[in-house]
Amino acid sequence: MNVILLGPPGAGKGTLAERLVERYGFLHLSTGDILREEVAKGSKLGKLAKGYMEKGELVPDDVILEMVRERLRAADGKGVLFDGFPRTLAQAKGLEEIVSVDHVLFLELSREEVVRRLSARRVCRKCGANYNLITNPPKVPGVCDRCGGELYQRPDDRPEVIARRYEVYQRDSAPLVDYYSRRGLLRRIDASRSPEEVFRQAVEVLGEPI
Ligand code: AMP
Repeated sequence: MNVILLGPPGAGKGTLAERLVERYGFLHLSTGDILREEVAKGSKLGKLAKGYMEKGELVPDDVILEMVRERLRAADGKGVLFDGFPRTLAQAKGLEEIVSVDHVLFLELSREEVVRRLSARRVCRKCGANYNLITNPPKVPGVCDRCGGELYQRPDDRPEVIARRYEVYQRDSAPLVDYYSRRGLLRRIDASRSPEEVFRQAVEVLGEPI
């Protein structure tokens, strides 16, 4: 089973992905995570992606599609959970040529809530765990509960970049809702609910693991 997580930045895709991987054993393919790793390594791809990411713009489709193709070679027949991909119609069409998609979980969230969540988000540098300073703060400020790593604010979670990312989402990614809806693949999820409730809605769609 191949599943796409679609929704604005901050809708909770990463948090839901973690739980779904645990329940269903998906290969988690987050293009944002891969790009951040490449930036941290200072690779050629990372150097190319950095400028786009800092501004909240999308990395070009051909670069993303090549990166996804390469990761899928390692999938080994496992079901894949696509997180933050596809983000444009060109990426969706490119994906169609590589694998078939079973469900698109659309995490719906208002712009106000997106801004509120992203401004308060902190991420662990070491294990990638997500926190929210208001709704899910770490026990010790600045320190990851899980691994003791340092928490930081993603450079693209600063207010001026958040606004741009939301605009880019509306312009380039929102049309995917219609695209997958026409194909009968879109499953709407109310992302304003708690992480447990969002997970419950997702399991209701995907069914129990085989
Ligand atoms: P994310 O972690 O999904 O919010 O992604 C962070 C940033 O990485 C985005 O703002 C884009 O600059 C870039 N990015 C991640 N996934 C994609 C994608 N599928 N297409 C283009 N750019 C992407």
